[in-house]
Amino acid sequence: MIMLVKTGGEASLPEWRSLFAALLPELDVRWWDDPTVAAEDVAYTFLWAPEPGRLATYPNLRLIISSGAGVDHLTADPHLPAHVPIAKMGAAEAVARMREFALATVFFHHRRFHSFVANQRLKRWEDDETTEAANRTVGVMGLGTLGLPSALALRDASFRVKAWSRSARAIPGIESHAGAAGFDAFLAGTEIVLCLLAATPETAGIVNAATLAKLPRGACVINAARGSHVVIPDLVAALDGGHIAGATLDVFETEPLPADSPVWTHPRILVTPHVASFPNRAARARFVAEAITAFEADRTVLNRFDASRGY
Ligand code: NDP
Repeated sequence: MIMLVKTGGEASLPEWRSLFAALLPELDVRWWDDPTVAAEDVAYTFLWAPEPGRLATYPNLRLIISSGAGVDHLTADPHLPAHVPIAKMGAAEAVARMREFALATVFFHHRRFHSFVANQRLKRWEDDETTEAANRTVGVMGLGTLGLPSALALRDASFRVKAWSRSARAIPGIESHAGAAGFDAFLAGTEIVLCLLAATPETAGIVNAATLAKLPRGACVINAARGSHVVIPDLVAALDGGHIAGATLDVFETEPLPADSPVWTHPRILVTPHVASFPNRAARARFVAEAITAFEADRTVLNRFDASRGY
């Protein structure tokens, strides 16, 4: 049973092999470009951004496991074999790490640290409006594997939490809105918005000038999902115009963020280098081993990508 690995660079192969040897000794772990592997022997792939057309060359492929939660790097392949299920990385540690990131960045903006960071550059001693978390409304876009636990953690930290997803949800202590019809009500009064949406054609560019204008003056924006969600020129304009007070961006259309991006030097944008939730290799190997074990037992696919929904 061969699994091809393409994540972390070829130098990481010995570490992957030793992790999987302890978890699934029967799994033969090989690097993506191993010339000695016969295509028909490949049963599993654990990867990031395969070259288009390559996955279609494995006739006995049973399961594709994405080494990250997003699958845009796979669905971009026009020859992706549609009959092979895809498991999205869903390590428990990934959830815990995103929950931490949500709390850290929401508290950063809640306590107006974006103002203090901007003012420090100017040696300006100026307080800013503060309030208790219980008086602050946070809106979470996306209530999936990462969004729901983050929303619950924010609720448990006393924030007033609103959420927006595709399907309506009833979650105690969270004001839930759904679909296009519920978007404006979600935005109204949301002072800190945290984007944890799936990246689909419908959600591309969703944080744009019109959306930002519907948030109250002084609102802050956090994007920990995908760069495609935020229209950067619109965000910068809203920051410069004073309607939006601060932003934290973890993900970008082009990564690493190019040196000439205005985002790097904007005094009210905190840039984090796609680190919101990045479980270590041991945690990801555990998820892959669980996914293969479940699949082998009864073809259950953990954290499955649903092509009809696009995420
Ligand atoms: P899931 O697929 O589990 O959840 C996606 C959520 O988006 C769901 O709540 C879904 O609604 C909602 N959604 C999708 N389309 C729409 C729409 N048209 N309108 C409203 N809501 C919609 O994703 P994850 O929680 O696993 O990941 C969330 C994001 O985080 C992804 O973009 C992923 O790539 C990114 N990510 C970022 C990392 C980082 O380090 N920055 C690390 C890992 C992931 P519904 O619940 O109704 O289905």
